[in-house]
Amino acid sequence: MIVVMKKGASEEEVQHIVERVESLGLKSHVIQGTERTVIAAIGEKREQTKESLLSGAGVEDVVPILAPYKVASREVKPDPTCVKAGSLEVGGSKVGVIAGPCSVESEEQILSTARAVKAAGATALRGGAFKPRTSPYSFQGLKEKGLQLLADAREETGLSVVTEVMATDEVDLVAKYADVLQIGARNMQNYRLLEAVGNTSRAVLLKRGPSATIDELLLAAEYVLNEGNPNVILCERGIRTFETHTRFTLPLATVVYLRQKTHLPIVVDPSHGTGLTALVPDMAAASVAAGTDGLILEVHPNPEEAMSDGYQSLNFEQFEMTMEKCRCIATAMEKQLGS
Ligand code: PEP
Ligand code: MN
Repeated sequence: MIVVMKKGASEEEVQHIVERVESLGLKSHVIQGTERTVIAAIGEKREQTKESLLSGAGVEDVVPILAPYKVASREVKPDPTCVKAGSLEVGGSKVGVIAGPCSVESEEQILSTARAVKAAGATALRGGAFKPRTSPYSFQGLKEKGLQLLADAREETGLSVVTEVMATDEVDLVAKYADVLQIGARNMQNYRLLEAVGNTSRAVLLKRGPSATIDELLLAAEYVLNEGNPNVILCERGIRTFETHTRFTLPLATVVYLRQKTHLPIVVDPSHGTGLTALVPDMAAASVAAGTDGLILEVHPNPEEAMSDGYQSLNFEQFEMTMEKCRCIATAMEKQLGS
């Protein structure tokens, strides 16, 4: 349920309702809107809960949350959420650009990429140190050494670091180096991992599972939010369909749909979404036109020699051209792309 406070309700009145909600065995989430404060009361509804809360001082109304996800819902928080993590801002009038290689491979590779993407206007650096690979015989990432290289690149360029965490017992280690913890598509429904990142102070980039519905994505986000971490960025990275010409199918309607259903910011990944370098620039531009709050793009100094996902990576020149194209669309949408 949502307890909608009256305009100008006092802090004491809000605090009192929070205590009432908790004494009823429900979890409370206070959301300060531009107009008024609302308190989401999450949990099993019991008889008389609504009536009992309605009689509280400063309460205007108590309404049910219709969506299965609660804290992520626009019903609870109509104002869009802007997630900030160092140099990265996603949401509002900014279109954040997270760019970098699929995997961190060497000092030279990650530093040269960080410099190039920063010069072209990226606002964060991506790079996997722990890689979820389909085959156990493929490159698994440089692990902590890779995290260290990402931190060095941040030190030099000022770019925030976005990197994947794959396991609950590696959350502390990755959070020590990263600004944004990426939950990969394969882990979208790893609920213990979602709870673990929900207990950190790092922003979370939650990728859609290739066969997950949008409601399942939002309910996965709910696991993070429910632990008290409000900084969740949703990522559409393509889903599995019957189509074989592209690696995945990239549904941009997701952006428009999510915009209506959730206040959380949305990022599109046209690299994994298409799996083909030649399709990435136009699909990045289309994502901006659909209203995305951010892009995540794979960029490599020499895609031909990449240890993972080279066939969908942009080289530096292609990245620069993609940024130019996307910037034109962003301007038309009265948004600012990148830095
Ligand atoms: C990645 O970002 O390199 C990655 C592994 O993505 P996904 O989890 O979307 O497959
Ligand atoms: Mn990749």
